[in-house]
Order: sequence, then C-alpha cells, then structure tokens
Amino acid sequence: MKRTLTCIICPNGCSLDVESDGRDILVEGNLCSRGEAYAREEITDPKRTISSSIRLSGGDMEIVSVRLSKPVSKAMIFPIMEEIRKASVEAPVRIGDVIIRNVLSTGADVIATRNVGRRG
Ligand code: SF4
Repeated sequence: MKRTLTCIICPNGCSLDVESDGRDILVEGNLCSRGEAYAREEITDPKRTISSSIRLSGGDMEIVSVRLSKPVSKAMIFPIMEEIRKASVEAPVRIGDVIIRNVLSTGADVIATRNVGRRG
C-alpha cells in the first residue's frame, strides 16, 4: 500500500511518501525523525482529537464547549462523541475543568474550554 501524507507536526508540512507491505513501513520525504514517527502512527494507529459541547444545567448558557485533553485512536472518536452526547454538567464551569475523566479508558479527559457562570 502506498500513501502520501502531509506531516502536521510542524509548519514545514513535509509531503511524506509512505509504503507499507503490512509488516514493514518505508517513509520518505520527511526532513526529520518526527515525520517518520507521525507517518508510522498514521498507518498503524491514527489518532485524532475532538472539540464538541456538553449540555449544561443552571448556567447562563445551555451548553459548554469541550475538547479532549489529548488525541485518541481514531476508532474511539464516535464512541467518545456518544459519551459526550449523553453527558451533562451543572454550572458553574471553568476553563480546564474535567467534565469526563479518562473517557472510555482512553487516558484522555473531556475538558471545558470556556467559563460559564450560574444563571441569574
Ligand atoms: S517531517 Fe519534520 S520537518 Fe517535516 S513537517 Fe514533519 S516535523 Fe516538520
């Protein structure tokens, strides 16, 4: 399998040619070792992060924006989105508050990205 990826680790944005036969992975086009590590991870266990919002009760707003504390396996994105959809939190909420700790045992927390005070 051959793929071309753009390395997103730094602003250089190297174009990476990746060839894999299911066992060995050959990476070309990277200017540094971080690009090779990125390409290997993209092929074997791609990671992504999420920004979303969670229902909020008793606050100035009805939702509060959240994000993951770190990228997780791409396969966990939809299950985590479902956990976020089911969750709710009470105001007040502060930036950085952990809303769901270690969501679905991924090691990532769902954290608030804005302050929301109590209603009234
Ligand atoms: S391969 Fe290295 S230099 Fe190129 S974009 Fe990735 S991190 Fe930056």
